[in-house]
Amino acid sequence: MQVNVLPLDHYNVASLISESLVVFVSSTAGQGDPPDNMKNFWKFVFRKADAVIDPWLDAFWEKVFSLYPSMAAVIPLREDEPLRIPTEQSVPSQCPLPYPPFPARLVSNCRVTDSSHFQDVRHIEFDISGSDIQFSAGDVVMMYPCNAPEDVQQFCELLRLDPGATFSLRATGSTAVPPRLPQPCSVRHLVEKHLDVAAVPRRSFFELLSTFATNEVEKEKLLEFSSAAGQDELHSYCNRPRRSALEIQPRSFSIASSLLAHPQRLQILVAVVRYKTKMYKPRRGLCSSWFASLDPQAQGEVYVPLWVKKGSLKFPKEKDPP
Ligand SMILES: Cc1cc2nc3c(=O)[nH]c(=O)nc-3n(C[C@H](O)[C@H](O)[C@H](O)COP(=O)(O)OP(=O)(O)OC[C@H]3O[C@@H](n4cnc5c(N)ncnc54)[C@H](O)[C@@H]3O)c2cc1C
Repeated sequence: MQVNVLPLDHYNVASLISESLVVFVSSTAGQGDPPDNMKNFWKFVFRKADAVIDPWLDAFWEKVFSLYPSMAAVIPLREDEPLRIPTEQSVPSQCPLPYPPFPARLVSNCRVTDSSHFQDVRHIEFDISGSDIQFSAGDVVMMYPCNAPEDVQQFCELLRLDPGATFSLRATGSTAVPPRLPQPCSVRHLVEKHLDVAAVPRRSFFELLSTFATNEVEKEKLLEFSSAAGQDELHSYCNRPRRSALEIQPRSFSIASSLLAHPQRLQILVAVVRYKTKMYKPRRGLCSSWFASLDPQAQGEVYVPLWVKKGSLKFPKEKDPP
């Protein structure tokens, strides 16, 4: 058998259809992002994948049932099956905090790449004195980012919300109040600290939104976006102005310092995410752009609540390599 091994962007995607067997090996970057040498390939596959996944899944189940008749009792979800909206109690917290985040004082935020270089990388240092935070090589620090004040303002204007208005949530029989949300809470606080107004909405988001739609035309459009046939349209809709708000998820950063060399300090290196789409305004990564905007010299003391997660890398206790 003749075998070709190629970096993904060196492979002509048009030949894919005539291959009998293809194995992809990829090490993702960041939060599952494609590495640099497969960006074009991924763009192509991403545009096609959602539109073909449902027919592929049907064929998959057919094959599974013919090979394993005992699985016939498994009933795949119907396409028209209503989405079950998870409640706070039924879904385990996506990222349980090992202990309450520690408000670490931002000591410095310096660009370490030359201003002529395309990538803005920041060296950021926190003061963690007073905490019992311990970390070693390979550990990761986590924190929740905030939206920029101008994005909060724009979001409120678009939705005709008064940022100063306050509201309180009450727990219902099956739904608890989100623990991070203060009671009462202002609209500004909700948008700034809890809603990821810059995120790209995914197919499941539109499916969820359709269950809340009261207008039949809007409901139909949202369902179209969440169907297999609507994927091309959804892709182009989402990559023009992004129109949704998702819950802010914590971001991880590999710790770039040692407590032995810098006691009471925790340092990270952050690459500021900035990229162009069809939109006029360049897209900015939520957390990295927020970091880039923090300036303890100009803004006075800045505190970032953070916590440390053990990394998955384990270094051998003995110094000599095995
Ligand atoms: C264990 C771990 C350790 C990490 N360590 C570090 C670290 O040490 N330093 C560091 O800088 N980051 C690190 N990251 C990544 C970091 O957590 C964030 O994902 C990163 O900073 C971007 O977050 P953001 O909020 O700025 O961007 P987001 O608002 O989350 O936006 C990022 C998203 O933008 C989109 N995007 C980005 N570039 C493009 C493009 N060119 N074209 C189209 N879409 C694009 C992608 O969908 C991407 O997922 C780590 C992640 C993990 C999981």
